Amino acid sequence: MTALEHHHLWRPYTQMKTAAPPLEAIATRGSRITLKGGRELIDGIASWWTAVHGYNHPHIAAAMADQLMRMPHVMFGGLTHAPAERLGARLAALLPGDLNHVFFTDSGSVAVEVALKMAVQLWLNRGETGRTRVLAFRGGYHGDTMGAMSACDPEEGMHRRFGAYLPTQVFCALPRTAEDEAALDAALARHRHELAAVIVEPLVQGAGGMLTHPPEVLATIARLARRHGLPLIADEIFTGFGRTGTLFACEQAGIVPDILCLSKALTGGTMALAATVATTEIFSAFWSDEASAALMHGPTFMANPLACAAANASLDLFEAEPRLAQAQAIAARLQEGLAPLSRLPGVREVRVLGAIGAVQFAGTPELADLKRRFVERGVWVRPFGDIVYLTPALTIDAGDLDRLIAAVTAVTEAVA
Ligand code: PLP
Repeated sequence: MTALEHHHLWRPYTQMKTAAPPLEAIATRGSRITLKGGRELIDGIASWWTAVHGYNHPHIAAAMADQLMRMPHVMFGGLTHAPAERLGARLAALLPGDLNHVFFTDSGSVAVEVALKMAVQLWLNRGETGRTRVLAFRGGYHGDTMGAMSACDPEEGMHRRFGAYLPTQVFCALPRTAEDEAALDAALARHRHELAAVIVEPLVQGAGGMLTHPPEVLATIARLARRHGLPLIADEIFTGFGRTGTLFACEQAGIVPDILCLSKALTGGTMALAATVATTEIFSAFWSDEASAALMHGPTFMANPLACAAANASLDLFEAEPRLAQAQAIAARLQEGLAPLSRLPGVREVRVLGAIGAVQFAGTPELADLKRRFVERGVWVRPFGDIVYLTPALTIDAGDLDRLIAAVTAVTEAVA
């Protein structure tokens, strides 16, 4: 164990004293991570769900190299540039309905903060005070900043200790049953005058445990939010860009949210970039002769040109290559490969949605032991809570996908 004073890097979600030292990555390519010493790991989770085209795609690399030499960064206050203009127009064209107004930031959590601020200020701009809370769903995760944390599952351990510092939101179960739907309807009615919006992760609560729900549940949420006159914020930070088999998860429910958050795969996993996209109705509430009606947010690296160039190149790949068909093929293979594990007594459930496959254990496994077993098998995954999951690059080849499934099968059989 290294002495405390030698730990210059503070690592995410990590007890620095007891955690095993991290593995050192020295290169990436396709679906593989090369470690110091030359060993390769197959990446089963695409670097926290970002690298949808695999690592180092030459088209994205070339676009970034070109932008790097031209203008890697320029401030966005008072200036604009072609990569952002083009990306904004392309996102508006790709997103459903009139989600046409794009606010760029640099992480998923901040995209959520902006969505929450948009929702709160929307009402103020309309002359209605007191709407300072959002309705969020149990099991949800929206990020690690204060507003985003306040909308995460309130019982979930990671953020609970900060409870006293956070705005208190209204929480409901996802409306999977008629009773849940009635409870949601009643909560919306009861809190209507203090609510600014409803926020949901469409089709799958990712960090909450890869908890999937059918499109009808999402459609019900959209319908009830509308009935109570509340904007719906769809957090597609995990699901956006093909992960669930369609470009955006909302498409499967045929809904158009009022505000939609994107990040993670937006740049194909190369650069930190996020977008909060609003409909024309939302945007128009900020369109005014009053300076005070403007949205007061503006990160220093907003719309970073290098990140926008990477995102444009990533969208080129969605146009030129069959990513959605690849996601669907991965879904079929995950279903076929992982479903038999549900027969093991130590497995509670196997869930597959698009290019997401999760095995939930009946008990809580020893996570460090699980991770070690996977690395021994040449696989990089990050089990958490009571699940191990696969969210590979959409471009992963069949051989590597089969190796991932074989590793999950072998490790699950050994521990469950
Ligand atoms: N929202 C969702 C649905 C996420 O899955 C995440 C990250 O996992 C976030 C927000 C936060 O994104 P970031 O880690 O980029 O701040």
